[in-house]
Amino acid sequence: MFSEGNKDMRSLLGGKGANLAEMSRIGLNVPPGFTITTEACNKYRDNQGEFPDKMWQQVERSLKALEKQMDRGFGDSKRPLLLSVRSGAVFSMPGMMDTILNLGMNNEVVDGLAKASGDRRFALDCYRRLIQMFGDVVLGLDLELFERALDGAKRNAGVHFDMELGEDSLDKLVKEYMQIIEDGWGQPFPQDPMVQLEMSIRAVFDSWDNPRAQVYRQHNDISGDLGTAVNVQTMVFGNLGDKSATGVAFTRNPSTGVKEYYGEYLRNAQGEDVVAGIRTPRPVAEMESDMPEMFEELKKVYTTLDTHYRNMQDFEFTIQEGELFVLQTRNGKRSAQAAIKIATDMVDEGLIEKNDALLMIEPKQISQLLHSMIDPSAEYDVAGSGLAASPGAAVGRVVFTADDAVEWNERGEDVVLVRVETKPDDIHGFFAAEGILTARGGKTSHAAVVARSMGKPCVSGCEDMTISMSSKSFKIGDKKVSEGDYITIDGSRGYLIIGQVPTIDPELSKEAKRILNWADEVRRLGVWANSSTPESVELASRFGAEGIGLCRTERMFNSPERLPIVLDMILSDTKEEREDALGMLLPYQKKDFTKMFKAMDGKPLVIRLLDIPLHEFLPSIEELNKDIESLKDFRDWLKSMRSLSRAVKQLELPGKEDFILSKLSSETSILAEQKKAKEVLERKVQMLKKVRKLVEVNPMLGHRGVRLGITYPEIYRMQMKAICEASAEVSKEGFEVHPHVMIPQVCTIDELKWTRSLLMNVKEEVEGRLDMELHVKFGCMIEVVRACMRAGRMAEIAEFFSFGTNDLTQAVFSFSREDAENTFLPLYNERKILNNNPFEVLDQKGVGRLMDITVAWGRKTRPDIKIGVCGEHGGEPRSIGFIHTLDIDYVSCSPYRVPGAKIAAAQAALTEPNKLSVIYDTGETRNGKDHGRSES
Ligand code: ADP
Ligand code: MG
Ligand code: MG
Repeated sequence: MFSEGNKDMRSLLGGKGANLAEMSRIGLNVPPGFTITTEACNKYRDNQGEFPDKMWQQVERSLKALEKQMDRGFGDSKRPLLLSVRSGAVFSMPGMMDTILNLGMNNEVVDGLAKASGDRRFALDCYRRLIQMFGDVVLGLDLELFERALDGAKRNAGVHFDMELGEDSLDKLVKEYMQIIEDGWGQPFPQDPMVQLEMSIRAVFDSWDNPRAQVYRQHNDISGDLGTAVNVQTMVFGNLGDKSATGVAFTRNPSTGVKEYYGEYLRNAQGEDVVAGIRTPRPVAEMESDMPEMFEELKKVYTTLDTHYRNMQDFEFTIQEGELFVLQTRNGKRSAQAAIKIATDMVDEGLIEKNDALLMIEPKQISQLLHSMIDPSAEYDVAGSGLAASPGAAVGRVVFTADDAVEWNERGEDVVLVRVETKPDDIHGFFAAEGILTARGGKTSHAAVVARSMGKPCVSGCEDMTISMSSKSFKIGDKKVSEGDYITIDGSRGYLIIGQVPTIDPELSKEAKRILNWADEVRRLGVWANSSTPESVELASRFGAEGIGLCRTERMFNSPERLPIVLDMILSDTKEEREDALGMLLPYQKKDFTKMFKAMDGKPLVIRLLDIPLHEFLPSIEELNKDIESLKDFRDWLKSMRSLSRAVKQLELPGKEDFILSKLSSETSILAEQKKAKEVLERKVQMLKKVRKLVEVNPMLGHRGVRLGITYPEIYRMQMKAICEASAEVSKEGFEVHPHVMIPQVCTIDELKWTRSLLMNVKEEVEGRLDMELHVKFGCMIEVVRACMRAGRMAEIAEFFSFGTNDLTQAVFSFSREDAENTFLPLYNERKILNNNPFEVLDQKGVGRLMDITVAWGRKTRPDIKIGVCGEHGGEPRSIGFIHTLDIDYVSCSPYRVPGAKIAAAQAALTEPNKLSVIYDTGETRNGKDHGRSES
């Protein structure tokens, strides 16, 4: 019985059942009833659809008790008891499973109800609803059949709404419905209420496995083993005329968080009429003048629920002839702003403690607040949609090339770069654009990855769009957008909108900052950021990063003015030539480091030396071949032009010669062109040779990282010099610098020894020259399995470790990320061969276990070794919860994820997940005591 349960019994009673019990317990007016447990449902499913032993007897006994309590009889035509049979799983799955109302009616009871209520119209309305729901949910008949009959009845009666149907019309409709049942099912509608009840309970059990519930569970990571409970509850009637109503309400505004009476109601209505959109419901505030006494009652319910649950509640109510009943409550879904406002307000109201507030926030939500977003009050039409590749909203004029983006931007225009797909040499366009929109490419496409790393909004793979580069326009649906037209993209939702939509700026609100301060008080894990440009380092610092855990240096080789020098370096044949080119790069890199050290003033900056293979800076073989072909054509063409102009000269046409030559352009200018073409051609041919030499079968496992540093020591030496000189100069200016040099891809002790001595030489040279002492920390990435196995010895040399969990995951699974994500990984997730994408959520049992061992061995050698995680897992809440349990000092993630990571770290500290049970598989049972959320 509801009187026996409470809110902590969710896994047995389901969320709805547990809360119905809780609300009855605290004295709210809940129609009495009882709950059949999820355990019964699971036994029923295991027994191929047979009720477990004694279940039916228990249902009968509970029903007797209910009849006694209500002083009514189920199937009794004088004092009929009507019931609802409601599904209710452990995790809320709104609308996924089924509910049947008005159970217990038959041809006699309908008359009895008509007499008892003095309202035959009402009795018939209940009956026809029961037959319809029973036909649909229990018998699986086509709902359309009933809808059509209903529409016909309304047409015949000349009315608009079902509640306008009179007795006679309803009487006829009931008969039609009966016929639909008999035709579709082959038997008449069951007149025995006990048969109705039994069949309905089965239908609710079965609805656990209906396709839409299965899909919903898959998307929301809910185990299929949990089963649903069934709530059997006394009916109350919102459709008993104008003094009756039904409604839904939130104890606080779910989009702003403001404490107000938020909700909607509908008079003379039952069940889902409110949300079904048949009639437009009215805001609850109108009830104050409409049904003042009921409004007073409802206000009490708001307060009781809000203060009792100490969380914003989303509840259902029904008013039956002046009496208010509560039918359901659950924690309400809310926007990011609302979540933060509600949490801090509740602390101020003394309802909850700071720690409870921290646990109420979804870490991901707080990060959403950092991106500019479409003003929630704006109105607009979505013209097309693609993938939500990089969050935030961008408004600008359409341009179609990176060069145009730069040009327009220099004229002071905001632009959105629109491309079929983007390539690395579009990078300058990314910097110039407010946002990026592509027709092709997934969430890991070039555009998406680069946009995310730069914090620019991006919608990728908007496939309904056809771009015409020749006319600089694109089509979407029946609309055409040309260069210079305004569009708005929403990278948080994947929307493309034509025109300018107002946006609001990223700014951590006062409330958000307060919550983050509370998080700082409890969390143990440090939160640093991955930032590779001076701008991004500044951003990270503004968002509260406690250090830079990964500054990639690739981009320092890659900007438009630096790339030609890098190409010179790569194409050099001798070490001297290479050093010359590197000498020209040094000032650029030093300038970047200088800005970063200043931005970090006092906080650590971990700089990773060059990691990627050299040929990534060069064009591909295909591209070069194409260029060479067209250059050759051009050369041949110039040659013939030259002979032509010579021939004209020899024609000796006095007076006409100059004229013709001026049309042909002079021989000297052709000569100059020829010379230029020859030079370019030679360089391209040389490049092609080099690219051929550098080509690798598997570049990601090839000549990269520390291996590259050892074969071309001058590259690392230049980077080390830039770091040392920049830190020396910045600290002379009075800033506090903490440079860390990090070596990628290390797998042996000697690689570390070798690079450290390189650093020591550079450092001593700079110290001597500038006459000052430098403190540069030396450490390495841990991203190779062998490095994990040698952690004890590595720690003799490294002063810090940083887990590169992306590469480490690739290594542990032997998956290449892009290939896996583009082929089998989605299927693996769907079939639950793997529960998550291990590149998004850290694999705890494999990769995590390896990390655990590495940390233990590293700390044995050097107890104070600083250990961090700089893969993007470091910003993912579930992964952070696990990392917290390892003896790790900090996580490092993109600047935008820093605040969310702080909340996640605080939550981990407050809940203390158990590492051992996660890694070593203890404490879990097949029946989903871990809610199916564990890893394979
Ligand atoms: P869902 O989980 O899809 O919301 P519910 O079990 O809450 O399904 O029921 C659907 C609708 O029927 C809701 O509007 C609810 O208020 C109404 N309802 C359920 N039980 C009763 C009852 N005993 N009396 C009146 N209305 C009910
Ligand atoms: Mg409901
Ligand atoms: Mg790596």
